[in-house]
Amino acid sequence: MSATIIDGKAFAATVRGKVSDHVAALKEQHGITPGLAVVLVGEDPASQVYVRSKGKLTVEVGMNSYEHKLDADTSEADLLALIDRLNTDPAVHGILVQLPLPGHLNSDLVINSIDPSKDVDGFHISNVGLLGTGQKSMVPCTPLGCLMMLRDHHGSLSGLDAVVLGRSNIVGKPMAQLLLGDSCTVTIAHSRTKDLPDVVRRADIVVAAVGRPQMVPGDWIKPGATVIDVGINRIEKPEGGTRLVGDVDYAGAAEVAGAITPVPGGVGPMTIACLLANTLTACCRANGLPEPDGLTA
Ligand code: NDP
Repeated sequence: MSATIIDGKAFAATVRGKVSDHVAALKEQHGITPGLAVVLVGEDPASQVYVRSKGKLTVEVGMNSYEHKLDADTSEADLLALIDRLNTDPAVHGILVQLPLPGHLNSDLVINSIDPSKDVDGFHISNVGLLGTGQKSMVPCTPLGCLMMLRDHHGSLSGLDAVVLGRSNIVGKPMAQLLLGDSCTVTIAHSRTKDLPDVVRRADIVVAAVGRPQMVPGDWIKPGATVIDVGINRIEKPEGGTRLVGDVDYAGAAEVAGAITPVPGGVGPMTIACLLANTLTACCRANGLPEPDGLTA
């Protein structure tokens, strides 16, 4: 069998197109422009790249982008004061604090100081609780992107066996909640799981989010299963230089799976598209307007 490739790059472009159309309509009909504020503390090179790319795509879909770059030694009080100002700024509908924060800052405290209705990363404890209890929330972007691709590929996910590899707060746990919300039978696996190959072989849907290069070989995959590879790992190439790979052995898994996301070009582009979708959703909710179809969980 040769798997269908789920093209996250193309899917993300479609999502951004829908966001862009909706933003244009909001401006024309209501005079409202959604705004996303991104806060970067310090000079972590990877974070700088992410923030630049988020800002560029925010503007491309017609939203306002507000970048706040703070020194690495910014005090917690100053960061909280900025978040407080953004919370009350009516032009800002979404707030994202780029993680990881420098070690002297308490990430939980900082994230939980964001107004939950502007928490477009979906990491605030209120949004975590709302998602866990099946209520309307802001949904973390990476799992939301995975869910959109799965719904698009399968239609209904009801009754399917799903295995999520990884139990982090930003990917594994919210992913499991979303799959449960769509009536999958969900198993969450982690570093202490026994007989991991057997657990994965039961799955109609495998979402791999472990951060270990090509850890899942093709012979763990049930024939015909759908594989969503969240992992982004940089490895050395034999001929020199580096390349990005996922948590799944793509070549091996593509032989047996029914469908698979590549790395790069799978989940990654969907994450930023869902950040824009969440900002639009937050803007619609803040203004009591209907939410766009198909852009939320
Ligand atoms: P974390 O390191 O927070 O979590 C990793 C999880 O994998 C943990 O639950 C850990 O288990 C589990 N794990 C580690 N080793 C094994 C193993 N040998 N067998 C089974 N489970 C294992 O990572 P994140 O969730 O933040 O990220 C996961 C991956 O996804 C990374 O590669 C990251 O770069 C990528 N990522 C990609 C995004 C995108 O936009 N595409 C966005 C976010 C992340 P335990 O809890 O027991 O330690």
